Amino acid sequence: MNYKDYIAVVEDYPKEGIRFKDITPLMQNGEAYSAVVNDIADFAKDKDIDVIVGPEARGFIVGCPVAYILGIGFVPVRKEGKLPREVAKVDYGLEYGKDVLTIHKDAIKPGQRVLITDDLLATGGTINATIELVEQLGGVVVGLAFMIELSYLEGRKNLDRHDIFTLMTY
Ligand code: 5GP
Repeated sequence: MNYKDYIAVVEDYPKEGIRFKDITPLMQNGEAYSAVVNDIADFAKDKDIDVIVGPEARGFIVGCPVAYILGIGFVPVRKEGKLPREVAKVDYGLEYGKDVLTIHKDAIKPGQRVLITDDLLATGGTINATIELVEQLGGVVVGLAFMIELSYLEGRKNLDRHDIFTLMTY
C-alpha cells in the first residue's frame, strides 16, 4: 500500500507558500489507517515502552490507537489552560511568536520509557518541546514516531540522539 495515495496535499494552506499535508483521507480509510498504526506498533513493540505521549491534536490520532494495540497508557500534551490539574510547562518558538505546551505533572514517573508520536515532523519545534516536557518529569524518550517527515525542513538535525520512525517522506 502506498500511504501517500491517502494524503491530500493542499496548496497555500494555512497560508501562501505552504503545501499542507492533510492526513484526514488516510484516517477515513480503515485499511490505510490501521496499516499505519500497525507499522508504528511494530516499531515500538520491542522497545519495552511504558507509555506513549503525543501533542494535541494529531499526536492523539497516531498515539492512542498504538497505545491500545500495545496495551499501555497514553498521555496527552496540550496547549496551556487545557489540562485541569498541576502541569509542567515549556515555551516553544513558533514561526511567529511563542506558544506553551503542558503535561500533567504526575503523568510520567521517573525512569518510565516513553514513545512520542505525532502526525508530522516539520521543523521539530513541537517534538522538541514535547521531549523537554517528558524529560522534566524524568521520563526516558526511547523513540519518536511520525506518519510524515518533511525532510527539507531538517527537523531531524536537532533530534539525532533519538530513534526516529517515519512512514512517508516529502
Ligand atoms: P514542527 O513543530 O515540527 O515545525 O511542526 C509539526 C507540527 O505542526 C505537528 O504537530 C503537525 O501536526 C503540524 N503540522 C505542520 N505542518 C503540517 C502539515 O503540512 N500537515 C499536518 N497534518 N500537520 C502539520
